Amino acid sequence: MSVTDIPAAPVGGPSLPQERRLVTAIPGPRSQQLLARKAAAVPAGVGHTVPIEAAAAGGGVVVDADGNSLIDLGAGIAVTTVGASHPKVVAAVAEQVARFTHTCFMISPYESYVAVAEALNRLTPGDHEKRSALFNSGAEAVENAVKIARKHTGRPAVVAFDHAYHGRTNLTMALTAKAMPYKSGFGPFAGEVYRAPTSYPFRDGLSGPAAAKRAISLIEKQIGAANLAAVVIEPIQGEGGFIVPADGFLPELVRWCRENGVVFVADEVQTGFARTGAMFASELFGIVPDIVATAKGIAGGLPLAGVTGRAEIMDASHLGGLGGTYGGNPVSCAAALAAIDVFENDGMVERAQRIGDILTTRLGELAAAHPSIGDVRGRGAMIAIEFVVPATGDPDAAAAASVARAAIAEGVITLTCGTYGNVIRFLPPLSIPDHLLHEGLDVVAAAVAAL
Ligand code: PMP
Repeated sequence: MSVTDIPAAPVGGPSLPQERRLVTAIPGPRSQQLLARKAAAVPAGVGHTVPIEAAAAGGGVVVDADGNSLIDLGAGIAVTTVGASHPKVVAAVAEQVARFTHTCFMISPYESYVAVAEALNRLTPGDHEKRSALFNSGAEAVENAVKIARKHTGRPAVVAFDHAYHGRTNLTMALTAKAMPYKSGFGPFAGEVYRAPTSYPFRDGLSGPAAAKRAISLIEKQIGAANLAAVVIEPIQGEGGFIVPADGFLPELVRWCRENGVVFVADEVQTGFARTGAMFASELFGIVPDIVATAKGIAGGLPLAGVTGRAEIMDASHLGGLGGTYGGNPVSCAAALAAIDVFENDGMVERAQRIGDILTTRLGELAAAHPSIGDVRGRGAMIAIEFVVPATGDPDAAAAASVARAAIAEGVITLTCGTYGNVIRFLPPLSIPDHLLHEGLDVVAAAVAAL
């Protein structure tokens, strides 16, 4: 299928005009006022990528308080996968808010939490018996996955990988690889966290089995399988640079974990819920994790996270060992049930694949014309370009920053990522119409050409 044959977004009913519209420079005067208030009221450590005051969002645009309409190629870091104001989500939230906002599931349980757990048990990879518990954020989901794996195995150690990102709480900072900006000065970090080399085909040139052998050898020698509770890995690394492991890497790690009684935890916080052109990225690699951590796209923009795993692992915790005041909040659960309905019944997986076709075709053409783009990679609606110094292949963070900045000034929201900061990632909401995606890519292409 050629790029021009691909149908427009099937769902979302965005009421906002689906257009790029600049009526002021970015930031406009209203946005500047808010940013001045932010600087005086919010700590300097809380940054922002796009210097605007968001006023509305939906379909494929974010509209600011000055009336500018920006093309959204970031989806609030892969959260608004069904759109930022999907009508089914909006209706479900309004209905639930009017009935009750909170009871605490640990005090008075309600149906929607159980229904989300049932949906997660059904949708995550593998047909074994599962259980799911709900939390508020991706970091909290990963923390709970580790708690559960430790309780089940009675072992202390956890392995995470080079380029990993798992969150900003104390344990997840320890799991996260990159010091600046996530960890520097914020230690000491949680103990018994070990780091193994990952598979990064563009930079290590290793086959999947060779990269797995390297990681397993390090784990066996430096930690010892008998001490290891869990291996925690993103099937496609997100913040680390949209690194897709070589074929065979993940299946070999899973095989080794099974053989050694180690819990294999897939952090699908960024990759989950249709983002990669499969409901979960684990499916793309033919793996069945023991535990899957989810968040971001699950609830159409509301805060919710899940930990789903084999029943015998999940049930290892004593009564009262898992939970939290807000975990599985009823408004978030209502949003999740609506979003999951959209994921399952409105062609979201296919839409992500089509967006992936557009992104890889267009970005592949761009890379062929510009040696400053060393690699185009990713799956579905999770695609990135890695900028390099052409002569050496060294990471070129300045180029990525310059392209992202230029795109934002022209009304296109793009995000950077990568251990070396030299990657621009494309994570559009799946509700973006094709014409906006193409226009956004035109703007990015012009910024690359101007480097
Ligand atoms: N894991 C992965 C793979 C993520 O991408 C993120 C967020 N970028 C997290 C965990 C942490 O999620 P949260 O910010 O909701 O705590």
